[in-house]
Amino acid sequence: MFALTDQVAIVTGGAKGIGRGIARVLVQAGARVVITDIDEAEGRQAAGELGVEFEALDVSSRDSCRHAVQAIQERLGPVGVLCSNAGIFPQAPLDTMTEDDWDTMIAVNLRGAFFMTQAVLPGMREQGYGRIVLTSSITGPVTGYPGWAHYGASKAGQLGFMRSAALECARDGITINAVMPGNVLTEGLKAQGEDYLREMAESIPTRALCEPQDIAFAVCFLASPEARYITGQTLIVDGGQILPESFEALK
Ligand code: NAD
Repeated sequence: MFALTDQVAIVTGGAKGIGRGIARVLVQAGARVVITDIDEAEGRQAAGELGVEFEALDVSSRDSCRHAVQAIQERLGPVGVLCSNAGIFPQAPLDTMTEDDWDTMIAVNLRGAFFMTQAVLPGMREQGYGRIVLTSSITGPVTGYPGWAHYGASKAGQLGFMRSAALECARDGITINAVMPGNVLTEGLKAQGEDYLREMAESIPTRALCEPQDIAFAVCFLASPEARYITGQTLIVDGGQILPESFEALK
């Protein structure tokens, strides 16, 4: 059950963090994984270590997404799974957030999901099969954090995009779902600093930050043939972080 034997699976932002964790688990499930990333050096190194392929791409560019998907399909055949995971999360307080801060966030996190989905769709429609899994977040769709208004908008936007896209794909055997991670110990999260990591661990009922593979197992389930009847849905993977109603409830 839940095998991805010989399926071509693209993971965006696979050089590091959650994407790398997803790639590792999809390989274990039998997929022929292609890591894609804007960081070519890190991406090639990760691909070498995991024994998968690498393709450079910038998800904020439609041409780059199209060319990368085309090259992958020519080399490996039809794409069965897309894990649209690449994302950025630089903080910017609302009072000083620039137009560029906003646009860059939306370009990578939201337009990136759109461009990658659009790039794989023709091939998936042709084979009458596809699994698209977005990496959203609890931040935006459920919770908020000062400095991440633009990030939250991009992550909530992904879910709005997903629901209509799911309807457009439903008759072609293509599902599109999203995982919503809590706080996952990745290079990107470590960059927020020790105080942030400690504060987050204390706000999670399990008292432990999420590991990339915790997200990856959820992604792998939604990417499996067995999840064919699940589409347009979200799965929160956060160790119960959004549950407590008060400080007392966390004790
Ligand atoms: P990370 O910074 O550790 O890794 C992100 C990867 O995406 C990097 O390899 C980076 O080079 C790549 N990338 C960035 N911009 C790109 C672009 N334009 N085109 C292609 N690749 C690009 O981040 P992470 O913590 O692993 O986060 C991965 C995803 O998970 C993001 O979408 C993030 O918003 C989401 N997420 C993370 C957390 C967390 O706690 N770490 C929580 C919720 C959601």
